[in-house]
Amino acid sequence: MLPPKVLKSGFSGLRNVLLRGQLLSAAPARLQHSQTQQHGQPVHSTRLETSSAKTLIDIGTRRIFNEDHDLFRQNVRRFFQEEVVPHHNEWEKAGQVSRELWEKAGEQGLLGLMIPEERGGVGGDVFSAAVVWEEQMYSNCTGPGFALHSDIVMPYIVNYGSKEQIERFVPNMAAGKCISAIAMTEPGAGSDLQGVKTNAKRDGSDWILNGSKVFITNGWMADLVVVVAVTNREAKTAAHGISLFLVEDGMKGFQKGRKLDKIGLKAQDTAELFFEDVRLPASALLGELNKGFYYLMSELPQERLVIADMAIAGCEFMFEETRNYVLQRKAFGKTVAHLQTVQHKLAELKTDICVGRAFLDNCIQLHAEKRLDASTASMAKFWASDLQNKVATQCLQLHGGWGYMWEYPIAKAFVDSRVQPIYGGTNEIMKELIARTIVSQK
Ligand SMILES: Cc1cc2nc3c(=O)[nH]c(=O)nc-3n(C[C@H](O)[C@H](O)[C@H](O)COP(=O)(O)OP(=O)(O)OC[C@H]3O[C@@H](n4cnc5c(N)ncnc54)[C@H](O)[C@@H]3O)c2cc1C
Repeated sequence: MLPPKVLKSGFSGLRNVLLRGQLLSAAPARLQHSQTQQHGQPVHSTRLETSSAKTLIDIGTRRIFNEDHDLFRQNVRRFFQEEVVPHHNEWEKAGQVSRELWEKAGEQGLLGLMIPEERGGVGGDVFSAAVVWEEQMYSNCTGPGFALHSDIVMPYIVNYGSKEQIERFVPNMAAGKCISAIAMTEPGAGSDLQGVKTNAKRDGSDWILNGSKVFITNGWMADLVVVVAVTNREAKTAAHGISLFLVEDGMKGFQKGRKLDKIGLKAQDTAELFFEDVRLPASALLGELNKGFYYLMSELPQERLVIADMAIAGCEFMFEETRNYVLQRKAFGKTVAHLQTVQHKLAELKTDICVGRAFLDNCIQLHAEKRLDASTASMAKFWASDLQNKVATQCLQLHGGWGYMWEYPIAKAFVDSRVQPIYGGTNEIMKELIARTIVSQK
């Protein structure tokens, strides 16, 4: 049974998640005062912010959330602890998670959270999606590529796809039965997407796709890949001649290469993809011809928000791991936490993380109001992912030699952090984007 408060909330998407989830129990004990919303604006909140909360990962904190989100967070936390954490070591060895996990996540309503119900998604808001991003980081399990699937790939299909494409793919994606990826990067083109060589040529009403992609998240398990390809070499700029195609596993000429041997994200099936004379029907074109680059530019702010929020959540996790460690580790007859230099280091880390959290929560709120611009999202991505790496280095240092051992969670968090300033557009590219708006405002 749902608590009456949840039923009355009028937040149909999240209510459906809770109904589907069937993991309900009593509201969290640390729950603070409820936030009410009017016209999407917070009216009043006595919820604690993370800087004042007992821990940085407490349920019931942060004014951008309400009690429904808290209940949802409790369930998502349990999902990661029960369904992901116990298997993650085994998945790290396999270089991928199980298909069963994807289907379980679908059953619990954790995929396609922000996609409207009438389009086959869950109909939740960005806040509930953020709960899933953050809880994954708090579990320290980077294998499942849920965020890329739900909040990066699904929006392309929903925003630019035909009715037929949406009906065909989105419900299965939300159910975890169709795993997705997006293939932009090529061996010779990463930051400079206009340099892609993969191309599609017309053959009657069909398209013939040739080329290759690299570093593709969910690439090995993907049933569906959004592929960036050149469709007009004579366009006035390369950006005007790029289109997106929906390529399905099993199509003749579509080959998956090896799962790449990365230094981190060990349970994530990052792969190479090859296309050799893949015949695509006209219905595989996503959106309008030669509008692909424009679509990519429109969707990238959400991708950057996802990375940034996961980065701050990673910091929060690492901080709490380290706090627990120094409180029990002994040196010179006392715990390491008694040393003033360690205390000052923890004070610096907590301050940095809480400052980052405040900016990120502001970005999430802006995104909920459709006001998050590309430059602000780039600031969040660059600053939060750099912070994540600084926090990872310093928290590992506070663990001493044990921090360098794989069995300690901080070791995994450290290597997994390293990619965050690289993918989703490198942090150097983020600075380019931010700088452009600064100088163009003059
Ligand atoms: C684990 C992982 C998962 C990934 N997942 C995906 C995915 O799902 N789909 C996908 O399409 N791609 C994915 N990528 C690719 C990722 O987005 C690219 O690696 C990234 O955009 C950088 O491109 P690159 O590797 O070619 O580096 P390059 O573009 O070769 O850059 C090399 C260096 O030059 C710098 N540089 C380049 N241009 C400039 C400039 N104009 N100004 C200043 N500095 C510059 C870069 O910042 C970088 O430091 C993934 C990568 C990794 C490692």
